[in-house]
This record gives sequence, structure tokens and C-alpha cells, in this order.
Amino acid sequence: MRVARTKAELQLGLGELREAAASTGLVATMGALHEGHLSLLRQARAECDLVVMSLFVNPAQFGPGEDLERYPRDEELDLDLARGEGVDVVYAPTVEEVYPPQFATQVEVGRLTDVLCGDPTSRGPGHFRGVTTVVAKLFNSVDPDVAYFGQKDAQQAAVIRRMAADLDFRVRVEVLPTVREPDGLALSSRNSYLAPAERERAAAIFRALLAAEEGARTESLEAGLEAARLELGAAGIEPDYLEARNPDDLSPASELNGRPVLVAVAARVGGTRLIDNIIVKP
Ligand code: AMP
Repeated sequence: MRVARTKAELQLGLGELREAAASTGLVATMGALHEGHLSLLRQARAECDLVVMSLFVNPAQFGPGEDLERYPRDEELDLDLARGEGVDVVYAPTVEEVYPPQFATQVEVGRLTDVLCGDPTSRGPGHFRGVTTVVAKLFNSVDPDVAYFGQKDAQQAAVIRRMAADLDFRVRVEVLPTVREPDGLALSSRNSYLAPAERERAAAIFRALLAAEEGARTESLEAGLEAARLELGAAGIEPDYLEARNPDDLSPASELNGRPVLVAVAARVGGTRLIDNIIVKP
């Protein structure tokens, strides 16, 4: 496994490998790898000749007062895990390599980024601007045939799909299912922030999503959302948002209407902000 620290090293590392490879897969990560990340790497390994993983805690997608400084970092362990999954090249650049002092360009997807996590009362649109800018750079440097993202970050996946289509990136965006703990909590690098009692309460988030699904299927979407709110409330969790939306364009959904609906939630448990979602199929 090669580790590239600069764009030049990445091109050098990819060069000869790419010549022998019919397809390249990219898994973009911020490290602190868990089974969710590993599921993406396994799919990439199964489908592509050349597997590239990026490892970069992207300051541009953190707002002021967010957890950039304390975001978990363990590069040595991440490299071992990546090696174990058969990754060919890890691109782990410095902040200066990605954003040199003269850097002045942003990639911004409209419409999909001012709701849910992009709402100014949540993380705000700057978060997704940071994500799409860095992912556009990765798409250009790695030039993957397939890029793998997790359903856990449903809005991010929808925004990246939109960007890839709008800007004519030739990449195919593949979104893979959310990997969960046995009690349903979605795996997240941020789960390590949770104290034991918070960790227990956090399981209510997935129970709430299941209640939303059940209510939506048996009664109405609104009844489902109400059942989810009750489930969260019982665990003392007040959501940032709990909303039903069209999974592709993130427009509001009020009924199932024969189409799948995304029910997405963001909630703070103690000081930790967690997100999760479920797709309710009609
Ligand atoms: P991150 O390191 O948090 O930026 O995540 C890197 C990629 O892993 C993103 O595409 C995430 O959606 C995906 N991911 C994170 N958590 C999970 C999970 N629990 N299940 C599946 N994919 C995940």
C-alpha cells in the first residue's frame, strides 16, 4: 500500500498502477475508521482494480465552534485498517497541500444545501460548500470510475450526486447502506465522544427512525414523525431537525405517495451532535 502526502506523490503513485487497472474506486474519509468506512472499502475492493482511500480531516467543512480540533485522529491505526482491506493507495495530504495560501475557489451546490444540516440553524450551507469543494478536488486528482459514500450521510450523498451530475464529473457515485451497532446506533467517528450513559440514550435515535417508518406505513407520515418525536423525547433527546424529504432532491415530503421518503434526524446527545436517517419505502 502506498501512502501519498502530496498531489505529486499521488499522481506518481497512481500512474503505473492506473495503467494496469481497468477501474479505479475512491473512498473519501476523515479517518478514525470504523466498520462503516470498511464496508465502503470492501465494496470498492470487490468492484475495482485500483482502490484509493483519502484520509483528510477537512477544516473547510467544520464551522466555528465545531469539533475540528478534537475530531479523533489515529493515522497509524487507519493505515493498518486500510492495508487490511487491500487498499492500494492512501492519499493523506496536509491542510496546506489541499488549501495552499493562494486558494480562492469554492464549489457550491444550490438548493439541496440550505435544508437539514445546511439550514443556518443547523451546520449551515458552509458545511456542504466545504464538502463539495474538497470532494471535487479529490474527483479531479484521483479521477475515479466509482466513488463510494455512506447512506448514513444521506444529504451529503445527494449533494455529491448533484454536483457530479451538474459539473459533468465522469464518476459514478455509489451509496452503500448504513452500518449500525447491535442496538441500532449508526457507526460514526463521533460516537467516541459519548459518555456511557449518553451512548445508551443515543440508541433512541434509531428506535425513533423505526417508529417513523412503522407510523408512516400503518398510518401517515405525520403520525410517523410524531411517534419518532415521542421516542426521542422519552430518551430526553430534542432533535435539531426531524424531517421527511424526497431522497433525491431533498424537497419536503408530506405523504408516501408511492415513492420512497427519507426521514432524517439530527440530534444532540450531551455535547455530541449525531445524524441518522431511514428510507421509508411505500
Ligand atoms: P467520514 O469519515 O465521516 O467523512 O465518512 C466517510 C464516508 O464513510 C462517508 O461516505 C460516510 O457516509 C461513510 N460512513 C460514515 N459512517 C458510516 C456508517 N455507519 N455506515 C456506512 N457508511 C458510513
